[in-house]
Amino acid sequence: SAFVADPARYDSMTYRRAGRSGLRLPPLSLGLWQNFGTARSFDTQRAIVLRAFDLGVTHFDLANNYGPPPGAAEEFFGRILATDLRAYRDEIVVSTKAGYLMWPGPYGDSGSRKYLLSSLDQSLKRLGLDYVDVFYHHRPDAETPLEESMGALTTAVAQGKALYTGISNYDPAQTEAAAALLAAAGTPLLLHQPRYSMFDRHVEDGTLEAVESAGAAAIVFSPLAQGMLTDRYLNGVPEGSRAVTSVFLHESDLTDDLLTKVRALNGIAVGRGQTLAQLALQWVLREPVVVSAIIGASSVAQLEQNLGALRGPALTADELAAIDAALA
Ligand code: NDP
Repeated sequence: SAFVADPARYDSMTYRRAGRSGLRLPPLSLGLWQNFGTARSFDTQRAIVLRAFDLGVTHFDLANNYGPPPGAAEEFFGRILATDLRAYRDEIVVSTKAGYLMWPGPYGDSGSRKYLLSSLDQSLKRLGLDYVDVFYHHRPDAETPLEESMGALTTAVAQGKALYTGISNYDPAQTEAAAALLAAAGTPLLLHQPRYSMFDRHVEDGTLEAVESAGAAAIVFSPLAQGMLTDRYLNGVPEGSRAVTSVFLHESDLTDDLLTKVRALNGIAVGRGQTLAQLALQWVLREPVVVSAIIGASSVAQLEQNLGALRGPALTADELAAIDAALA
């Protein structure tokens, strides 16, 4: 039966402006990296996406290579767009990226104009869209002049295939240079997408500052450290969890030292009347330059729990200090 979105979907979500742009984003966005491939049922993926939209999550983050296999996430999301969300296209911000290996040969990877623009055309086909809202260069490429990669993003906007530009995994100097080129071209940098969580604070070393002074916003990925900053691994390693099923997270990552920290952080969360996932999300969102955190979810229940972070009590200075101590 046809999907009809909840009329109350905008009642409790507060959207945040992305940098100096006119675009507002939900503080939590849904990422389709690992849970939206052929290994999971289409029905589950569809249920997660539609529930997110019903709860006010208007932004969906994709990339050419998301799946597995690469391309599957865009194809599945394209199906959901076509069957359920077609009437809501203008209420949705769809992002995609190119920068990692996508097809064989010299033109299916990195940062050339050749790769970025042909990849975007492929993404639009899989998604069944005329344009994406944000097109990112997925990672820096030291061998391609930055002018060329940023020029490709500008061309994508000029062609109407993307509305805004983004970069991901760029360091502070690369961010500054990219933002300057994009500003000069009249397609200002909207978003920088770095990894950020309690377990990976590298962006506090200049990246967030560079984003802010460029007038852009940060949208951070893996805020739950792929599930380690939740109660998922507090009592062993569950069957079907990412530490078992993915090549990006391993049981060997769950060291005693790490689990000691997770337990301490979990204690702080429980003291606040929330889950560790909710605390971890509120924590990345405490930085004003962070416009949104991109969460992954393998079930509707995880998604709903994570959105509960937006109703949590504000973090106090004492709690922030306790978190730093737990991480030390
Ligand atoms: P998270 O850190 O949010 O990890 C998501 C995983 O954590 C879920 O798959 C689930 O694992 C577990 N989880 C989530 N919520 C809960 C909960 N409430 N309780 C218990 N476990 C939970 O983010 P991801 O690493 O998935 O990244 C999010 C998005 O960021 C991606 O989809 C992608 O859009 C983007 N990204 C961008 C990158 C880039 O280079 N630009 C790189 C990586 C990600 P399980 O599967 O075990 O249930």
